[in-house]
Amino acid sequence: MITEDVSVLTADLLIHGRRVAAASRRYFESLNPATEEVLARIAEGDAADIDAAVRSAREAFEGAWGQMRAADRGDLLLRFADLIRRNESELVEMESLDSGKPVSTIRRQDLPAVLDTLKYYAGLADKINGQVIPARPDALTFTVREPMGVVGAIVPWNFPLMIAMWKIAPALACGCTVVLKPAELTSLTALRIGELALEAGIPAGVLNVVPGFGKTAGSALVNHPDVDKVTFTGSPGVGREILRGSAGNLKRVTLELGGKSANIIFPDANLDSAVKAAGAGIFFNSGQVCSAGSRVLVHERVYNEVVERLSERAQRMRLGDPRDAATSMGPLVSATQMKRVLDYIELGSREGAQITAGGARYGERGYFVAPTVFAGVAHEMRISQEEIFGPVAAVIRFTDETDAIRLANGTSYSLAAGVWSADIERVHRLARKLKAGTVWINTFGPTDVRLPWGGMRDSGFGREHGDIAIENFTEPKVVWINTGRP
Ligand code: NAD
Repeated sequence: MITEDVSVLTADLLIHGRRVAAASRRYFESLNPATEEVLARIAEGDAADIDAAVRSAREAFEGAWGQMRAADRGDLLLRFADLIRRNESELVEMESLDSGKPVSTIRRQDLPAVLDTLKYYAGLADKINGQVIPARPDALTFTVREPMGVVGAIVPWNFPLMIAMWKIAPALACGCTVVLKPAELTSLTALRIGELALEAGIPAGVLNVVPGFGKTAGSALVNHPDVDKVTFTGSPGVGREILRGSAGNLKRVTLELGGKSANIIFPDANLDSAVKAAGAGIFFNSGQVCSAGSRVLVHERVYNEVVERLSERAQRMRLGDPRDAATSMGPLVSATQMKRVLDYIELGSREGAQITAGGARYGERGYFVAPTVFAGVAHEMRISQEEIFGPVAAVIRFTDETDAIRLANGTSYSLAAGVWSADIERVHRLARKLKAGTVWINTFGPTDVRLPWGGMRDSGFGREHGDIAIENFTEPKVVWINTGRP
């Protein structure tokens, strides 16, 4: 598959504007998931480094950043965006080598979203207003929104740069400072954008990047008494640990967790579009998407046709070198993730579902899994209930609208859902009845930084994106001025 040699990089932490080795002097290896070769040696941050980064972030918050005009912060964020754009090729390649995502996907989807997010919040920086609320005749009463302070941002490996920016951009726009802990599998682009932030003129300490493992670096950040807020994207299990860990100083917490989203196809849908979107909904990013349409719910009248057409789509996907523009699906991110997905495929067969496409590893080098479709899936099966986080579609039959709603709402997750139908009344009914943070109608998967993103129950709480995110990083303060009786 990939034959070229890629030299091994050494990547140090970024604390207070300087690239430094970890206090422990330890490094860990990051592999290229397409070749299984060592790509980089990453400095392994732990509690001591997190502490240094938090002190730096506090200093920047109390100092230069905290005292800057909001409009100037916005200008710096625009310069940051411009530098990311000018270094796009390097970032795209680095992200692809580190995560296995196809370069075509990163260029078309991740990078534009990173820039859109940064520019959106740059524009919002000087529009974070309080309110005059005339509560009493003898007082002038108003609110101001003050930045929360030091933010710990912990992100996963499936969209390393994009999800990091979902947290960095609004936090910085609000005047907070950030300690970012990237996923241990994908630290490189986070470190690089930390450098670009400095080059843009954002003061040292405003954005520190400390790679390391969850149990050490991540946990130290969550437990640190001088961190005011934790914003986390990852799995529900770790989300729960984060809630416990942040209880010490009662940090504010936002959790964006997993999903098992239903994509519901009614017989009156445009089946060409529905099947195409069902394929993209589960195979995009090798299925490593929190809102993947991993449960395709299909009305019994069109069930066989959808299974057949979805399976054909799966078989037509082009797996291969992520740097090849023709590649539509790259490897999974790691050997562990590949094993997890293959174990679920084996489990699905044991549970009695039938594989109609894929069902095995693809090739012998790299962590590729063939796009897989399971037909005959029963709602209670584990492959229908648990997040697999891989290219595995569970196609489930339903009989009528009530049945579809029951199945769609019948997991512990509530992140997203899709509905395909030409019946205007039906789609409105479903939009109301589906338990999800986002309901897509006759489309599946798009997100936009202007629209709130997040879920409920095992999918977490709080919303990112939009102006709602301002509440994630600011506190309202009431000022009450006694003016005497009028
Ligand atoms: P993960 O929860 O294992 O890890 C996420 C991050 O948390 C990593 O940086 C990891 O180092 C860190 N971490 C692990 N243990 C920790 C601890 N005890 N304390 C602090 N930090 C810790 O998740 P993952 O495997 O990297 O990502 C996959 C999960 O993320 C899936 O469940 C997926 O659905 C979810 N996800 C959700 C969204 C969303 O917006 N809702 C987006 C992407 C991914």
